[in-house]
Amino acid sequence: MLMLDAMKIGEKTFEASFEAFCQKAGFRRTIQRRIVYGLFYGGCKHLSVEDIMAIISKKNPGLREESVYRILGDLEREGYIRKVEVPGIRKYEYASERHGHFLCSKCGKIWDVDISSVSIPEVLAGASDVNVTFNGICPSCAQKKRKA
Ligand SMILES: [Zn+2]
Ligand SMILES: [Zn+2]
Repeated sequence: MLMLDAMKIGEKTFEASFEAFCQKAGFRRTIQRRIVYGLFYGGCKHLSVEDIMAIISKKNPGLREESVYRILGDLEREGYIRKVEVPGIRKYEYASERHGHFLCSKCGKIWDVDISSVSIPEVLAGASDVNVTFNGICPSCAQKKRKA
């Protein structure tokens, strides 16, 4: 019961936020936009265009890749999502607070890393952008390696 109520509120909140977003940006509320917006909503997922196509092609086979690119461009321009700044990776994420990324060199999975405690020398305090990538083996790949 409680769970169901929470879900209903969540759905309502999502609709309200999507509506407000479209109003502010002057977008029409299309089904396609709603789907892509929903994939990034409140999450810290990292999704490539291929990931998005794989997720939505089941539910909405009519959605073409060009449309997804266009919608991503729109959402990025409005500051809702941003490109994941990891060299060699073409993914998008919800534009939450700046954070670093850990890229697993085995499975390619990306993990968010809190970099709020990283300090830079005072003379470089003028830095306007942060782009931190750690490379290595993620915990689950490390475990597999130990077992093998
Ligand atoms: Zn891994
Ligand atoms: Zn991230």
